[in-house]
Amino acid sequence: MREMIQLIRGFKDILPGEAELWQHIEKTAVALFEAYGFSEIRLPLLEKSELFARSIGEDTDIVEKEMYTFPDRKGDLVTLRPEATASIVRSYIQHKLYAQDPVQKFYTIGPMFRRERPQKGRYRQFYQINAEVLGVDSALIDAQLIFMLVTLFSRLAVKDVEVHLNSLGCPSCRPEFKAALSGFLSGLKEKLCADCVRRSGRNPLRVLDCKVPSCRDAMAGAPSLLDFLCTDCSTHFQTVQDALGGLHVPFTINSRLVRGLDYYTRTTFEIQTRSQGAQNAIAGGGRYDGLIRLLGGPDTPAIGFAIGFDRLVETAGLNRSDFIKKPDVFVAALGEKSTRSAFDWSCALGLAGITVEMDPGGKSLKSLMKRADRLGAAYVAIIGENELDKGEVLLRNMATKEQNALPLAGIAERIAAIVRAGTMRP
Ligand code: AMP
Repeated sequence: MREMIQLIRGFKDILPGEAELWQHIEKTAVALFEAYGFSEIRLPLLEKSELFARSIGEDTDIVEKEMYTFPDRKGDLVTLRPEATASIVRSYIQHKLYAQDPVQKFYTIGPMFRRERPQKGRYRQFYQINAEVLGVDSALIDAQLIFMLVTLFSRLAVKDVEVHLNSLGCPSCRPEFKAALSGFLSGLKEKLCADCVRRSGRNPLRVLDCKVPSCRDAMAGAPSLLDFLCTDCSTHFQTVQDALGGLHVPFTINSRLVRGLDYYTRTTFEIQTRSQGAQNAIAGGGRYDGLIRLLGGPDTPAIGFAIGFDRLVETAGLNRSDFIKKPDVFVAALGEKSTRSAFDWSCALGLAGITVEMDPGGKSLKSLMKRADRLGAAYVAIIGENELDKGEVLLRNMATKEQNALPLAGIAERIAAIVRAGTMRP
């Protein structure tokens, strides 16, 4: 045998048996988002590299170390998207969606690419479920997005969900905080990792979310952004908290939560679950009131979140086997002529919306019945040369073991009616 080609490290296959759970989660999320007026937007996986450098920020881990960036055949630098917000904003501006309605609500689901160190819960191709609201400044929408997240996680039986909340201020109050933070950092240079030392001058906020343990320890006494919020930001943040209280969503204020992307302003949040070990953030998001202008659009406030789909699958308290589809009918045909007859009406059954499985491989009744059992078929339709001569099909209810001979003429309609009614005598 020739050497087998394996998938790339940090990438994975989602096989049948697991994919059904992904589908269920996706359907649950879509139903919830659509109830709140979100529409789907589908975006390319490949964008100009500049889009991410400008939006996520040059000093971030994602842009500095993690992007899959390469020159295409003409030498233009392109990047496999590491996140979706930048593309959503690009699309909103490019198609002037704000001219149709200044308020746009989108959701999108798909793969993202970051060349991080792979481990459980962290992949190089991973999936996100995004929801974004563009054109709304009100803090109530911030609370509504968090409420949607918590509702989704509860519908998917995710346990021990915690909402962590912070405000990152705005361009009028953040500079003062940055100055205070820079002052604090200037006394810490020997204790910080090389990345933090380099970033502390240009972008001191990034030091707050460094994952290196010694940097975390060194930052324990860092000034809190919440002490620097201007009146507008402070009122906005208070409204988010009051609205969450009104919706009975518990949360914890975490003034260290800055998230790994530069574009966030005001409300930022992360949803964590204690059941997931080190990779415990299952969703994160926040406001990005300056991003649309930064990317060449009108001055428009916006907010959104991204759910880590892979981590959601790992933490959802759902049973995989409950979602595996079982055939309504397994057709067991014996002999060549019966197989040809069964082939025709099993195709008709599929057209009628009945899940049908037929094994045309000329196997014995015993092995066909075994397979029907393994697949969990509700009914087995048996036709051998004998039944064919008599113009009959035997239909067996696998749960009750009841078995009836049915006329071959009009068999597809008859079986479809039995399956739909759930009884042998519809
Ligand atoms: P971010 O886009 O960094 O704000 O991440 C939002 C969510 O995506 C996180 O809370 C994680 O659940 C998920 N996520 C981010 N990076 C990865 C990764 N490399 N593998 C799996 N999930 C990830």
